[in-house]
Amino acid sequence: MTSIREFQELMRAIYYERDSRRGIERTFMWLVQEVGELSRAILRNDRENIEEEVADVLAWLASLCNLLGIDMENAVIKKYPGRCPKCGSIPCRCDLK
Ligand SMILES: [Mg+2]
Ligand SMILES: [Zn+2]
Repeated sequence: MTSIREFQELMRAIYYERDSRRGIERTFMWLVQEVGELSRAILRNDRENIEEEVADVLAWLASLCNLLGIDMENAVIKKYPGRCPKCGSIPCRCDLK
């Protein structure tokens, strides 16, 4: 497993049947919950848990994309084709937000 597409396919193989029964809205709510867990791990500066929660967020995002029929790798390359999509620079020169 080395690419975004392969990770999404792995999540499909493991979880698609369960994800389908849960549905898009409840799967999205799980993704939001995992983002909350990542937030708490960052606030505690718990390095090991931050890593785990990053993995959870990506896994739930992949599950959601599988249900929505979104190819994550295509979506990422389309929006971020090798440079900042707003200013077109590497590194980005947009005003800091
Ligand atoms: Mg978690
Ligand atoms: Zn930029």
